Amino acid sequence: MADLTSALNEDNRADLVSALKSKIQSLAGQHSDVLENLSPNVRKRVEVLREIQNDCEEVQDEDDDYDDEEEHEPATLGFVEKPKNQWSLCRQYFPSKAGGVPAWLDPVNIPLGRTSVCDICEEPLQFLLQVYAPIEKETTFHRMLFVFMCPSMKCLLRDQHEQWKRHPEKPSRSVKVFRCQLPRDNPFYSRECPQYNESHPPVGSGAVLCDWCGTWKGDKICSGCRQARYCSEKHQVVSWSSGHKITCQKMKVSSYVPRPNNNGTASLESHKVESNNLWPEFEIIIEDESEYNGDMSEDNTSANSLISRNRTDETMNSLLDSFKGDDDKRSWANFQERIAKAPDQVLRYYRNSNAKPIWPISSGRPSQADIPKCNYCSGPMCCEFQILPQLLYYFGVENEVNSLDWASIVVYACEASCEATLPYKHEFAWVQLYSPSTTL
Ligand SMILES: [Zn+2]
Ligand SMILES: [Zn+2]
Ligand SMILES: [Zn+2]
Ligand SMILES: [Zn+2]
Repeated sequence: MADLTSALNEDNRADLVSALKSKIQSLAGQHSDVLENLSPNVRKRVEVLREIQNDCEEVQDEDDDYDDEEEHEPATLGFVEKPKNQWSLCRQYFPSKAGGVPAWLDPVNIPLGRTSVCDICEEPLQFLLQVYAPIEKETTFHRMLFVFMCPSMKCLLRDQHEQWKRHPEKPSRSVKVFRCQLPRDNPFYSRECPQYNESHPPVGSGAVLCDWCGTWKGDKICSGCRQARYCSEKHQVVSWSSGHKITCQKMKVSSYVPRPNNNGTASLESHKVESNNLWPEFEIIIEDESEYNGDMSEDNTSANSLISRNRTDETMNSLLDSFKGDDDKRSWANFQERIAKAPDQVLRYYRNSNAKPIWPISSGRPSQADIPKCNYCSGPMCCEFQILPQLLYYFGVENEVNSLDWASIVVYACEASCEATLPYKHEFAWVQLYSPSTTL
């Protein structure tokens, strides 16, 4: 903190403003409740930061005429870590997480039917990550964005063709984003902030989930045992051939107490998921990019760069060769330079700053017209966050010809974060691939 305030001089004010914004956001978690729970010392520091922020904003307003440094605005970065406690990833702790199963914010009205499947192969979508991003407004006291995708690269390549169709009648996507938000008074969570020092059960119960994927609603019941629940016929079939054929008989004759109660909700939400194909589960830890602005030696940069992290130099060179023009090479160099400061980042969060997504290659970026209007209020969408391919490294996805891969996934959400009757509102993802020209 001291380094931030003492660094307040004419030259780096702009940097400082965004550093402070992110700092305040991460400290205050945007909730005055959290502030109340902080020690008086910390609270004082947050308030001092707020004052500095206000001062700086005034300064920035005067400076708005020259905006060249815009792309160097620091973002808020997300890193993955193995959770220290399993319970901390449960929905009542409002986690940001990647892999495993989603922690549904509204645990009852989970997306169903066509919404939950890949529009291309019709397999149920796999949970990629979720980000807790509340906004200081009555209706968005809790706010969570969820990203799902089909793990098939074949589908992602077809998704590319769909993505470039402007305003299609019926979008056909293999990547889907949902926004869920709740006011402070809601049927699922207490008004008070959760205590993060111990495990406590959620208030109320959620929908019964699929025994196979643990992700989607388990609306289909096995007709043999009348106990196993599935989201789809596909998952019922794969569960049957991977062992339910045998356990079904046992469940039928045992005096097993059925998990669901009469109204189709589960009293115990966390149960073992049968599928081994879910991506490994991580907590997403948030930090400021400005904390990584220190000088880096040449050696350090190359040792930690995305290249050595994620790919071999050889595949990277062939990738560079495949870039069509100097624009792509320039974008790539710029991207590498930004990422090298914190090469482990998997997520860049932008909503609360003036930062913009950084595109690894210049081809395959959307223009303004490629970003649709909000489905619900027809208002503009803004860039909420960007998912980097480093996540695939943590997920242990092989780097082979047909493996899932992307250069960047940028999530756009309704700028007003509007209310709609739908509990899970569709938002928009733009996927940039390394070689979008590759067709089937
Ligand atoms: Zn698919
Ligand atoms: Zn399922
Ligand atoms: Zn059964
Ligand atoms: Zn809207």
